[in-house]
Amino acid sequence: MEDVFRFADQWGPLKIVHIHRPPVGLKAVVAIDNIACGPAVGGVRMAPDVSAEEAFRLARAMSLKNAAAGLAHGGGKSVVYGDPKMPLREKERLIRAFASAMADLQDYVPGPDMGTDELAMGWIKDEIGRAVGLPREIGGIPLDEIGATGFGLVVAIDVARETIGLELKGARVVVQGFGSVGKHAARILAERGAVLVGASDSQGTLIEQDGLDIGALIELKAAGRSLRDHPRGRKLGREAVIDIPCDIWIPAARPDAIDTANVGRLRTRLVAEGANIPCTSEAERALAAAGVLVIPDFIGNAGGVICAATEYQGGTQALAFAAIEEKIRTNMRLVMDEVERGKVLPRAAAVALAERRIRAAMRTRRWETRES
Ligand code: NAD
Repeated sequence: MEDVFRFADQWGPLKIVHIHRPPVGLKAVVAIDNIACGPAVGGVRMAPDVSAEEAFRLARAMSLKNAAAGLAHGGGKSVVYGDPKMPLREKERLIRAFASAMADLQDYVPGPDMGTDELAMGWIKDEIGRAVGLPREIGGIPLDEIGATGFGLVVAIDVARETIGLELKGARVVVQGFGSVGKHAARILAERGAVLVGASDSQGTLIEQDGLDIGALIELKAAGRSLRDHPRGRKLGREAVIDIPCDIWIPAARPDAIDTANVGRLRTRLVAEGANIPCTSEAERALAAAGVLVIPDFIGNAGGVICAATEYQGGTQALAFAAIEEKIRTNMRLVMDEVERGKVLPRAAAVALAERRIRAAMRTRRWETRES
């Protein structure tokens, strides 16, 4: 049994619940971190290999992200153990079982994450009456389909590039992970004149110095195929994406993709963290020492959750995009001002901003009556 208290601190976690339903083969973990700002919103990840500690770290990232974005939500995250590519009927059974098993955790509102999507959120809403990131037909703003997180990341990149004097037109971009976040970020950056010179998925890396055909790659992925199946470009192993020289490097796949062992291989000016905790803290320090600006995950990739919070309040897609633009631009400017004034790392400035908001919210709460 993992000792979950070893990572507890003054912010949380409020609770970590292990769920086991042998008849349906369900094993899951729900981590609810800090709910001072409001009910925790965070993704349901389907994966075979995520520890309770990692679920907690992801929930903490959500507490910080939601507070930094100025949302009335705390942070949570859950993991349903399984292969996300399992047959749809089996997946529906497992997700519905998960939903009914966590129905009483009223302080947690599930959203989509790696391995789950709008349809899965529809099943959860159907079971327990709460979920965000729903299909359009039942009142949702499909955040992955519209590219809410990719859009927000580009807003953050736009503020960061001013700081380092980088023009988007002609900027070379590399994306690790060509999923909902990576492909939309690449698409929107290309619309603004940047060039995607490399991209990877779980099968490998594709490189084309003259610029990859993003539309063709999006179609390829939609057909369930790999980037390696694209007829053009150089194909290498998936780790090769780290070595491609570029101006903007976007990790949009897994946690801890960049650590002390591989950080020295990055040749870029800006790392825009699309994934959650894609760089270890040592790697972020090494990047700062090397003069590379890092957009912290919970500032740059808050677009999805801002969209989800807009949906939760009954808002429209247009309102969601406006909120993402306004909140991420404002928060990135606050972070950049702090970085320039105090010579602190962007993450330290971002954490301080989020903690100030959580602390202020905690002063308004009476904890003993908040437990669900
Ligand atoms: P996704 O499942 O749509 O896409 C993930 C992509 O990463 C796929 O192309 C997959 O092939 C690729 N991949 C997996 N392992 C890889 C590896 N080792 N190397 C290279 N590529 C690999 O997921 P997503 O929704 O785009 O999320 C990506 C990351 O961004 C996750 O960390 C997620 O938590 C985070 N995130 C997502 C959102 C959102 O709105 N979807 C919001 C905030 C953060």
